[in-house]
Parts: sequence; C-alpha cells; structure tokens
Amino acid sequence: MEKETIKVVIRTRPTAHFASKNIKIDSENNSITITKLKDEEMGVINNQQESWQFKYSKILHNSSQEDVFDYCGRPVISSIVEGYNGTIMCYGQTGAGKTFSMTGGPSNYKYRGIIPRTLSLMFQEVDSRFDQQVTVRVSYIEIYNELMFDLLSPIPTHEQSGNISIVEDISGNIKVKGLTMHACANEEEALSLLFEGDTNRTVSQHELNKNSSRSHCIFTLHVESKSRVESTEKVHVSKLHLVDLAGSERTKKTGSSGITLKEAAFINKSLSFLEQVVVAVCDKHRDHVPYRQSKLTNLLKDSIGGNCKTLMIANIWPEISNLEETISTCKFATRMMRV
Ligand code: ADP
Ligand code: MG
Repeated sequence: MEKETIKVVIRTRPTAHFASKNIKIDSENNSITITKLKDEEMGVINNQQESWQFKYSKILHNSSQEDVFDYCGRPVISSIVEGYNGTIMCYGQTGAGKTFSMTGGPSNYKYRGIIPRTLSLMFQEVDSRFDQQVTVRVSYIEIYNELMFDLLSPIPTHEQSGNISIVEDISGNIKVKGLTMHACANEEEALSLLFEGDTNRTVSQHELNKNSSRSHCIFTLHVESKSRVESTEKVHVSKLHLVDLAGSERTKKTGSSGITLKEAAFINKSLSFLEQVVVAVCDKHRDHVPYRQSKLTNLLKDSIGGNCKTLMIANIWPEISNLEETISTCKFATRMMRV
C-alpha cells in the first residue's frame, strides 16, 4: 500500500505576553526558533544559550478560525465524501487552544472551530450531490484512563463501564461495538449532538472528578453514499475522526494541578503510542504498526496513514512560562513529520 505522511501544522494561541525574546516565528518560511538560557527556570544566569530551530509545512500564527479551517479542514471534507477515511487531531499542553481549535467558542459565529465548520461544509457537499444519496451519522467517544465512554448515550458515563469495545472486521474496518450512532439530516441536528456530547463531557467531569484535559475526545462523522442512478454501484463508506487529545504537559506539574500519577501515566503512554503508530505508519520500511497498545491508536487504525487524510495541529502557547512545553510540543510535531 502507498504510504502517505501525515501533515503537521503549528497553531499559536494569541497572547499579549508573547515571549518575543525567546521565540521567533518566521511565518514566511514557516520556521520557529526558540532560544533559552540554560537553567533559566531555576534563576541561575550563566549566559549559556540553548537554541532550537523547527521547520513545518505551515505555521498558523495568530490565525483566525476561518483560516485554520480553510487550511486544515476544507481539503479533507471532499475526500471523505469520495470514500476515504481521515483524522484531524489537536495536540498540545492544556490551555494551548486544542478545544478552541476543534470546537471553538460557544457564542460568536466567527469563533466556531473545525467540528462545526466541518459539519456545515459536509452538509453543503451532501446537498449539492443530487445524483447521490448520502447519509451522515455522528458518534462521540471519550477515552479516560484507557476506558471508553459514549458521550451520546442515554446512559450516564459513570454507569457505562465496559459498555463499548473496539472490534475489527475481516476487511480491516474498525467498529465500536455498543457505541450509539446518530443519523443527522442537517447541520443543526449534528451541531446539537456536538453540544449534547460536550455537555455530557462536562457533567462526567464532576462525577468522575476529572478534568477534561485528561481525556481524549473523538467526534466522528460516518458517511455513507450511494448512487441514486446506478443501482449496482457499491456503497461508499467512510469516516472522519476529529480528535481533541489530552493535555501533553509533563508529569512534573501533577502536584499542583491535582492530576494523579495514574492519569499522567495513561496520558503519557497513549500519546507516545500515538507517536509510535504515526511514525511506523509513515515509514516505508516498517510493516508492523503497533496499533494494539492503546484504545486511541486501535480506534484510529483504519483512519491514519495509508490513503487516509491525516492531519495534526500542534497547538502552542508562546509565553515565557510555557517555554519548556512549547519546545516539547515543537519537538513532538517534528518527530511526527520525520521519515
Ligand atoms: P486546551 O483545550 O488546549 O486546554 P483551550 O482551547 O481551552 O485549550 O484554550 C484555552 C483558552 O484560550 C480558552 O479560553 C480559549 O478560548 C482561549 N484560546 C485558545 N486559542 C485561542 C485563539 N486562537 N484565539 C482566541 N482565544 C483562544
Ligand atoms: Mg481542552
């Protein structure tokens, strides 16, 4: 099979406290240079500098939601309707703008994120294809400590343990057994499901005493299309996963933020398994891809690499107090694009 690399872009969270001495962004060349004094964090000044330069296919610096969607979402939608699978995910430390990028601000139209814009464009596509009958269904999963929850189930998440599981059919298609799927006739219906899921995510946060930044959330569009004219033509089935990953910040912050070691371990492991899978899937010389190591990679198995559209937005928050996390996110993003 033809191996396609994943597209990686950086998005900055706009801030009035931009660390301009340490972070230089060259939007024309899509490069970032980050410099820090060694031991700066510990207050020791010894004038020794460390510097990193990163280059990406695109840096979305202080970009609008519309620009982000035009670059990241729009090109993916038509290939989904054509029958290809895809995944768009947001990676980064808590507060860097993952949820803002995926879902967006609640009130103002112009702050809508990738998911609502995708829904809107998807139904425009569906409505414009007179010769095809297209059905769109959505599902919404949360993965917390390697447990999966259905955010659109009538059963409250804290009563759901073990209700859903991942299965693979003989053609390699991934299905989630027990997951509720919701047919939507239009954008409004799909949007209200997104909001319902987000509300359930918030409610379950209180019930399980967890913070949303500790779980991965996967909103999926399932699209089925068949010709209205040619009754013999086969049905095209595809899906698009829109993933808001758990915060990537390192464990040393656990004490202050109340995150438990167990939660941190699950997050660290699943993000590093995700990296291993993406790297293996893009590596022409590698046949074995370790999908089975985590729920997330297993779930995304038929929608990453190969002839799927795969895109990762690495969200950074370029303030001085986040310099370490910014470097770490930039390094992760670079490792995702190697090969
Ligand atoms: P994360 O999901 O990565 O933890 P959020 O998306 O919740 O981060 O963003 C943290 C805060 O920053 C939110 O109040 C959000 O509205 C704001 N924010 C993030 N990115 C942007 C942006 N590009 N433009 C304006 N506000 C943003
Ligand atoms: Mg978030």
